[in-house]
Amino acid sequence: MKDFNTYLNQTEEIGYVEQVADAIIYVSGLPKVKPEEIVVFETGDFGQVFSIDPELVEILIFSKNSIKPGTRVTRTNEILKIPVGTELLGRVIDPLGNPVETSKPARMPTFSMPMNALPQGIIKRKAITKTLETGVLIVDMAIPLGHGQRELIVGDRKTGKTSFLTRTILNQTKRGNICIYSAIGKKKLDVKKIEEFFKKEGVLDKMVIVASGSEDATGLIYLTPYTAMTISEFFRDQGKDVLVVLDDLSTHAKFYRELSLLGRRFPGRNSYPSDIFYTHAKLMERAGNFKTEKGEASITCLPVAETAQGDLSGYIETNLMSMTDGHLYFDKDLFYLGRRPAINPFLSVTRVGRQTQSNLRREINREIISFLNLYEKMQSFIHFGAELNDNIKATLLTGTRIIQFFSQYTNEVVPINLQIVLFCMLWANLWENKELIAIRADMLNVITAYQTDKKIKD
Ligand code: ATP
Ligand code: MG
Repeated sequence: MKDFNTYLNQTEEIGYVEQVADAIIYVSGLPKVKPEEIVVFETGDFGQVFSIDPELVEILIFSKNSIKPGTRVTRTNEILKIPVGTELLGRVIDPLGNPVETSKPARMPTFSMPMNALPQGIIKRKAITKTLETGVLIVDMAIPLGHGQRELIVGDRKTGKTSFLTRTILNQTKRGNICIYSAIGKKKLDVKKIEEFFKKEGVLDKMVIVASGSEDATGLIYLTPYTAMTISEFFRDQGKDVLVVLDDLSTHAKFYRELSLLGRRFPGRNSYPSDIFYTHAKLMERAGNFKTEKGEASITCLPVAETAQGDLSGYIETNLMSMTDGHLYFDKDLFYLGRRPAINPFLSVTRVGRQTQSNLRREINREIISFLNLYEKMQSFIHFGAELNDNIKATLLTGTRIIQFFSQYTNEVVPINLQIVLFCMLWANLWENKELIAIRADMLNVITAYQTDKKIKD
């Protein structure tokens, strides 16, 4: 962007800082300022118009530099745009599009897109018909997802949410799709770990990481998911299937609450501002399956929400549930029981994933869910210590096997066709007389054989 004096000459409007409230700055003057316009301070800092009062303009600032009352401000007549392009692949950027790391030569894209674009209308959308493979057995077999679906990842802290997402990204990048991971107000170390993981797996150059740290300016953290969505839209317009992960929106809501309270908005439920639903819904609506000039392309959005004590009825969680097409619930109790991934199939929902399944997979899906239901019921018999007949014993054994079948401790991703073969072998009792551990080893052998044999693809 240009400097203060150039903009001042262009727009010929000047304002003065009157009051500073952390991330929000009150400015007088600037008579023709527009909502969401970018303003520039004498110090070189940028801000965005947050709201306009008759006397003062509220500005949201994107840097942590202290601005003193009396500082001059001018308009730019521009809205917030970020540079987007294929140059971003393999990079870690901040929400304004600046590269965070310095190791890679800084060739930045020249094309830019508006950050706060409106969601596309119904005419440009298509029904969701393609399955999104996560490579995680329990999800692909019991709670399937589709390309263009919005699925909330919800659960307590440290229940394996990020692990599930990184595995899904790994599988999707290996299939040639583009992935955007956005870390909203996370620790620098966590972001670094995620970056190292993808670097090690060799898929970093098929994805973009948008990161803001907990120590960054509140305005910057607030922008993070919008940047991720804008980059996704760029790749969608290139005709690519995109997966965007927003980790996590509970933090985003907290920072937005901070901004609103600083801006003296009316505190609603749990002090969240009344437009928090709108803020998130507008973001979610930008995902979906679209018709583009380069053919059908989708944005699959996986937002994350953190619950407290497994309570699914929190304000932000229920908001997000109502604007997504289902949720995967990561259960703390299952995590403590040693189940990995700790997804609870009974409390998880998918509203569009099933329509993308083939008949065979839908049939298997139905079988698994009804069997797991039966297994849960039968388990209560064990507690009574009652004498079990052979039927119940057999059910319990198969149930244990299926649970074992679903556990994935390492970062292996299992292709869908192999999942079906493996499951059918298990279901047909081909491994009846073997120990459970041996079954697990058997399966891993097949998986590694599959992964090393490059000739077999699908
Ligand atoms: P946070 O609330 O901090 O975001 P989270 O819900 O994203 O946590 P993770 O960080 O993904 O959880 O996982 C927590 C821990 O559980 C990590 O140490 C991770 O290694 C372990 N873990 C999660 N899933 C698996 C798995 N499938 N196999 C082995 N370990 C796992
Ligand atoms: Mg996490």
